Amino acid sequence: MRTQVAKDYYAILGVRRDASADEIKRAYRRLARQLHPDVNPDPEAHEKLKEINAAYEVLSDPKKREIVDLGGDPLAPGGGAGPAGAGPFVGFQDIMDAFFGNAAPRGPRSRTRAGSDAILRLELDLHETAFGVEAPISVDTAVLCQTCEGAGTAPGTHTMTCDTCGGRGEIQTVQRTFLGQVVSSRPCPNCQGYGTLIPHPCPKCGGDGRVRARRNLTVKIPAGVEDGMRIRLAGQGEVGPGGGPAGDLYVEIHERPHDIFSRKGDDLHCRVTVPMTAAALGTRITIKTLDSEETVDVRPGTQPGAVVRLRGKGVPHLRGNGRGDLHVHLDVRTPTKLTSEEERLLREFARLRGEEVAEISRQKGGFFSAIRDAFNGQG
Ligand code: ZN
Repeated sequence: MRTQVAKDYYAILGVRRDASADEIKRAYRRLARQLHPDVNPDPEAHEKLKEINAAYEVLSDPKKREIVDLGGDPLAPGGGAGPAGAGPFVGFQDIMDAFFGNAAPRGPRSRTRAGSDAILRLELDLHETAFGVEAPISVDTAVLCQTCEGAGTAPGTHTMTCDTCGGRGEIQTVQRTFLGQVVSSRPCPNCQGYGTLIPHPCPKCGGDGRVRARRNLTVKIPAGVEDGMRIRLAGQGEVGPGGGPAGDLYVEIHERPHDIFSRKGDDLHCRVTVPMTAAALGTRITIKTLDSEETVDVRPGTQPGAVVRLRGKGVPHLRGNGRGDLHVHLDVRTPTKLTSEEERLLREFARLRGEEVAEISRQKGGFFSAIRDAFNGQG
């Protein structure tokens, strides 16, 4: 157990107590990159990253850093009630805050902000979505500027404190109104609220700390993904302004239609044409599934639209084991363009069955019965 003393924020970032704002920023960036969960899956790294974020929050804020330098902890419960508590550091702003209840966080805003997510469409064919693939992708995003490492300053130069706001990032105006004095603050127009200026912007990125670049990555597509699913690549999105941590990249899967198979969930459907004679007599046909050859039993007396289900010949399930089914729809084809010999045989066949004249189906319910009822109603 550690005793609860003021944390040494300088030690956490590994910087000297007289480190410049730039040195603190650089140290923070370097550590944050090392401890980013994409790079470092260790759960301890996550805790450390939190500490480092806290240390940076404190040391990058001149007011909070002042409290630390006097032995206090601005993040301690009670809002900085250390040795530097409510003592000699109550400034004009604090008094105004106390009067007007303005408890919004103060201080300059950071030039470093988190980047946004990016999305990329990836077209795959059915075989790839079914069995998975390592797909090469080309991503066009903002990346960290290597020249300034995100600082935005030209090599060998530094930011300087804004002389309009004195580094506070905001300026106050006091107005006399019928309510009395009203203090309002707004972001400093000279530094846009950053509290610092970049007198010599980085020539590569123009001070933004990031540049656009095309990267080639490989995305591992698991077996069983479906059209419209998105795969998240953490930290592969846009790097933020000032070299801030990158957002995520989402790879959205678009499955190309297949010539033979249509997909519903993990089940596949295909159509096979069977000659009328084969449907009547029964046969076996060989069909190519996604990854094998299978024999389909066409039973004697197969009707048009009959479906044979091949279990486990569909798409592998994304979660868990097993696969969907392949549904083979049998289209029974009536012969056309009969030769005279064929016609003679068919007529003979019809005579044997007493089927020379078409009859309304005696089937109960359904389409045919509806037709029959319509006929009966009229006649
Ligand atoms: Zn740069």
